[in-house]
This record gives sequence, C-alpha cells and structure tokens, in this order.
Amino acid sequence: MGHKLVIGVCVILVWLGAGALVAADLNGLPKVVDFGDKVCIPCQLMAPALAELKAEQAGKLQVEFVAVGEKENLPLAEKHRINMIPTQIFFDATGKEVWRHEGFISKHGILLKWKELGADLNAFGPTFKRLEAAAKDERPKDQVCFMCDGDVDPKTMVTVPTEKGKVHLCSAHHLFVMLSCLQKDVEATEKAAEIADAVSGKPIPALTATFLYGMEEKTGRPTVKAFAERAEAEKVRQAEGGSIVGYEVLKRKELANRCGFCDRAVYPEDVALVKIDGLYSWGCCAHCAMGCAVRTGKDLEVHQPDGLTGEPVTVKTLGGYVSSIEPKTAVAWFGKRKNAEGKFVTAGCFHQGFFVNEENLKKWVEQHPLETGEAITIEQSLRDKMALSPGQVQKACKIGECSPK
Ligand SMILES: [Zn+2]
Ligand SMILES: [Zn+2]
Repeated sequence: MGHKLVIGVCVILVWLGAGALVAADLNGLPKVVDFGDKVCIPCQLMAPALAELKAEQAGKLQVEFVAVGEKENLPLAEKHRINMIPTQIFFDATGKEVWRHEGFISKHGILLKWKELGADLNAFGPTFKRLEAAAKDERPKDQVCFMCDGDVDPKTMVTVPTEKGKVHLCSAHHLFVMLSCLQKDVEATEKAAEIADAVSGKPIPALTATFLYGMEEKTGRPTVKAFAERAEAEKVRQAEGGSIVGYEVLKRKELANRCGFCDRAVYPEDVALVKIDGLYSWGCCAHCAMGCAVRTGKDLEVHQPDGLTGEPVTVKTLGGYVSSIEPKTAVAWFGKRKNAEGKFVTAGCFHQGFFVNEENLKKWVEQHPLETGEAITIEQSLRDKMALSPGQVQKACKIGECSPK
C-alpha cells in the first residue's frame, strides 16, 4: 500500500496545484487514477482492464488504483470528492484534472478518451482499413439494390419513386426496410411501389399483388414471392408450401420485428440479437445493436455472428461501456464511403459487421471488393453511438441521413 499512498499524496499535491513537485513525480506522463475497492462488482471488472492498460501503455500512461476502503486513503477520496466507486480521474502531464468518470469504464474506453484528449499513446486496436474499393462497380444502376447494394433479381425486383427518380430494390423485404426508414412520404411511396410478378417478371402494384409467404427450412427466414394472379400463387403454393396473403398481412409480418436503435424492419435471422433486461430486441447491423444502449439507456448483451464464418461474437455493456467481449480478439468493421462532397460517411447498415478477429475481417474485405471502410474496436462502435444526441438518434439510419446516395 505504501507505494499507492505515495502516489496518493502526489495526487493531493496536484489538487493543491503544487506543479513542480508533481511534475517530477509524474515523469511528465498523463495519469489515470481509479478509486474503488475490491468488493463492488464494477470495481472488480476494472481490475483486469487497469492491469492490461498499465502493461500495454508503460512509458506512456501512469495507471494507479486507490482502494478507498483503506483507512489511510479516506482523506484522499474526500479531497477528490469521490461520491461513488469506481471513479476514475484523468490527470494530464502537468497534473491537472482533465476528466473524470463515475462507474465502470473499459480499457478501450479509457484509451479512446485519452486519444480524444490528445495524449501520446502506444498504438492500440485494429489498424486495417481499405478506403478505395478493390474493383469498380460496373453493374447498371437498375441492377443494384438501393438499400443493400446487392444484385437485383428481375423476378423479385421492386421499383419505387424517390425525389431523385426511380430506384430499384432486390426484394419485397427491402421495400419494407426502405419504408421503415423513410422520413416522409411513406404512404405515397407504398402506393407507387411496383413489384415484379414471380412468373412473368412484369411489374405490378405492390398494394394489389398476391404474395406467397413461406419460410426457409434451415433458417426460418421468410421467403416472399409476388403474383399478379392468385391462381398462379396457388399453383406455386401447392408445389412449395407457404401461405397466400395480401399486402396488408405481408406488411404486418414484415414490420413486426424492428431494429431497437433505428426502427428499420428486420428479419431476426439476418441481424444481431440484443438482450435488454431479459427481453429481445434486434440490431439491423452490429453498430445499430450497440446503439440500443443509447436509445434505451440500459445495459445490453449483443449476439452478432462473424460476418465471414458465422462464429458467435458476444458483447456485454455496462453503464455505456463494453464490459466483456467474446472472443476477446473480436473487432468491428465500420463500412464508410465518400459522399458527394468527398467526406467519408457511413456506408449504411448493410455494410457493417463484427468479426471474431482482424484476420477474418481482412478475408471478408478481400471477398467483397466493393466494400470500403476501416476496422475499429467494438468499444469505438459503442462510443460513436453513445455520443449521439436524442435528435441524432431520432434521425439515425433514416434515408438521406445515413447512406451517401
Ligand atoms: Zn436489397
Ligand atoms: Zn438499425
């Protein structure tokens, strides 16, 4: 304890503003002091984070722990107005308090905050990025889905008018994804939407089409086919199974599951599962899943399969920070693109993901020559969302706000 006490005394001197003395002791390094104890659960979660931080940032950052339960540390805790544990105080190289945080904070949370404060740190987190696509998208515009950038099959194509002219979608599902993230004109868009007849490929109004609603045997993922004639739908139903439904029933099914962050329609089979207080929600992409923390103000458990292999990545949050990641090597891909002004913005929810490690991420990027973006820590993914204002959360992922199109 002696050592910590000496440090503690220095901290008091910092507080008193005894600059010269302190600077000598601090070796001119920034410092984070965690006030906690060995009993409280968030404090216990801090211990490995602090140990890793201390080892990885040796020579760049001082990391200290003050056990407030120890009698000799009580005056120190009082001096620093510690109201709850754990509390972390950040001191710059001159010994001035520059930030404090109450509650659990992760190692990457501490590092990202220091980076924001301009500290010179040892490199951390993934480094991989690709900002220029590896191939040119030669596909004609009417063969690229406006929502997901996937190929458009003429037998399932949906066409909708927008302010910028007609756009094409790969499927009925992506029509509902689009409707659920439009900021206005939802009914007018729905009314004007045309969908290809599954037999002839001829466009028919979506509102009056007959749909065959089925399910993939292996995954439970819905399958949707549109028909101009009910008799044709019936023929296919007899061969393939499923239920014949009208537009209204299809719409209710399609809009039943929504992203807990941005409200987009989702198929649970495609997206991240988010457990909140024992209930289930969904993240239409890995980053949206993290966004449920800012939207609900609650702790999350996020289950997102690796984008390459489908291996599980499980992330838990506590008080707005990542408290555990399984496996520990997991990273996030932030898909981004240049907009018309040449500024990088998110490439949209269909271009994001988590991976069990940076290697899998690199392989996935190699397999997808059109994807651009960078690897980031999962904590960064959460921080980006936690930094949003309520107004920004409301506009998140909405058409015109998110995708650079
Ligand atoms: Zn699509
Ligand atoms: Zn979403």
